[in-house]
Amino acid sequence: MDDVYGKREEKSLKLKNGLVQVYHGNGKGKSTAAFGLAFRAAGQGLMVCIIQFMKASVEESGEAKAVASTGNIDLYRFGRSFIEYPRPSSEEVAREVSEGLKFAEKAVTSGKYSLVILDEINVAIHLKVAEVEDVIRVVIAKNPEVEMVLTGRYPPVEIIDIADLVTEMKMVKHPFDRGVKARKGIDY
Ligand code: ATP
Ligand code: MG
Repeated sequence: MDDVYGKREEKSLKLKNGLVQVYHGNGKGKSTAAFGLAFRAAGQGLMVCIIQFMKASVEESGEAKAVASTGNIDLYRFGRSFIEYPRPSSEEVAREVSEGLKFAEKAVTSGKYSLVILDEINVAIHLKVAEVEDVIRVVIAKNPEVEMVLTGRYPPVEIIDIADLVTEMKMVKHPFDRGVKARKGIDY
């Protein structure tokens, strides 16, 4: 058996046909799926940009720690979470998210990245700190060879319409409902 462990694609790979994916729904796995895809893409030599919106900085997540030691993946964050203390105002968060979308537009047009993930952007729209039109503008602006992933609950119909692939994570059971708290390494 070939030893595949530790092998890295040396050449930077490019996609020909970048599509738009959406992971939404009330079940666990949206961000996990997006980071799993990032890991797969990076392993094949694609350059990946992950932009997380409104991520609470309570404790550094496992995925952020892992990305730091993985080549080909750049991770950025824009917009404070409303669970932070002191609670930021909607106007402040909207400004930060807007900066993030400007940054995202650069990422999808720069030619540097083949996969650009906007994690929790659907939630930002839902909470009215991002305009759906601004997100759609980024999607339309993307280079054809860029694959985009938009994650988060409650995407508006415009986001579903513009996507090529939509997956809804449906909660069938979640241990949170019987009092199991978020577990380090599994939930963050
Ligand atoms: P994950 O990051 O684990 O893939 P997610 O992106 O699908 O989860 P989010 O809506 O971003 O889900 O939720 C953020 C946090 O809430 C994560 O720690 C996740 O494990 C947890 N979570 C997800 N779905 C549920 C649920 N149905 N009930 C309770 N907690 C959940
Ligand atoms: Mg998530």
